[in-house]
Amino acid sequence: MRIRESKAKGILSKSRVFEYALNPYVGCAFGCTYCYARFMRRFTLHREPWGYFVDVKTNATDLLEREVEKKRPGRVWISGVCDPYQPVERRYRLTRRCLEILVENNWPVTVQTKSPLVTRDIDVLKKSKNIVVCITITTADNEIKRIFEPKAPSIEQRLETLSILRSEGIKTQAMIAPMLPGAEGLVIVLKDRVDYVLIDRMNYRYADWVYRRHGLQWAMKDEFFSRMASQLKKAFDDAHIPCEVLF
Ligand code: SF4
Repeated sequence: MRIRESKAKGILSKSRVFEYALNPYVGCAFGCTYCYARFMRRFTLHREPWGYFVDVKTNATDLLEREVEKKRPGRVWISGVCDPYQPVERRYRLTRRCLEILVENNWPVTVQTKSPLVTRDIDVLKKSKNIVVCITITTADNEIKRIFEPKAPSIEQRLETLSILRSEGIKTQAMIAPMLPGAEGLVIVLKDRVDYVLIDRMNYRYADWVYRRHGLQWAMKDEFFSRMASQLKKAFDDAHIPCEVLF
């Protein structure tokens, strides 16, 4: 794992998901096989495979302090192309310090992560009424998780994280994206842990080799995604959990 300190030119970037995206790191130690953010590897001239490098934007908080003064307030997505609570955050605490700045300035925030480390920052998260923590969780099947997300936190850790956050009064979302085989098992385990659920299909081809290697080609097809989305939507509706299908 190569960790490198770097200086960024800016920290709040335009986003198609929310007004802004904020990425304190380039690269992600979780290295999910399907991750679309791997384009950052070429972009930053890294030779290491995706999941084996992280650049730390050591000036992230200085930049943010300046940018919140100058830019129009809007929802900030932390993060778009890395996990903001990947292991390196334990040492550098950039996500935490950026969150503190945004909360102090009353900017709305959506945190997106797979990591239980987000619970370290409950004290900051609780200071704002306009923060949502969205935990990405793609399957309820541990074997499928191991195949597609071998280095990411376990399903159990993510579920427990949602429970802890919700019990502290923090708004929680589950992002079931990309839907993987075994996603149908998430309805029962997400009950009483989330305020909202988002569902999406696999939109990228990076993990095609993984499906093929494990004989899962049937789960790459449009028919699988349509059927699974309908099944999940109905089950969440029946469970009175607000749910949105994004495709
Ligand atoms: S946790 Fe998210 S950003 Fe990190 S590798 Fe997995 S999908 Fe990509």
